Amino acid sequence: MDPIWEVLAQVPDPEIPVVSVVDLGIVRAVENGRVVITPTYTGCPATIAIEQSIREALDAAGYRNVAIETILSPPWTTDWISEEGKAKLAAYGIAPPDLAKAATCPRCGSTDTEEVSRFGSTPCKAQWRCKSCLEPFDRFKCH
Ligand SMILES: [Zn+2]
Repeated sequence: MDPIWEVLAQVPDPEIPVVSVVDLGIVRAVENGRVVITPTYTGCPATIAIEQSIREALDAAGYRNVAIETILSPPWTTDWISEEGKAKLAAYGIAPPDLAKAATCPRCGSTDTEEVSRFGSTPCKAQWRCKSCLEPFDRFKCH
C-alpha cells in the first residue's frame, strides 16, 4: 500500500476530528503521484478546509510533488464511510447515516427517531431526536 495512505489516515475531518478523511471515504485513490478526493458535499464550507488539511499533511510528510485532484463524479455517498469510520462516528455521538433506514440513536440504539431540523451543528449535518430516550443528535445529511 502506498505510504501516502498512512499520511492521509492522520488527516482529521475538519468538522468531525475523530474521523480521518480516509475513514470518511473522501480519499478515492492514491496513484501516480496524485491523491484523488471527492468532497463530502458540494458547497459544504468544510470542503476547502479538507483540501488544505490534506495539502499541509502531504507537504509536512515530504510529498510536496503529490498533486491533489478533486473529482465530483460520482458524488460522495455515505456508503463510502469505512466500518471503522462508522464506529468512530457512533462513539462520537453522530449517527452513521444509512439511506435505507431511519437514523439510529447513537445513545440507545433505537431507530424510533425523527428529524427535528435540516440544520444541525454544521451545514453538513441535520439535527435529529430520539423518541425513545429523547436525546438529540446530529446526523449526516443524506442526499
Ligand atoms: Zn435514544
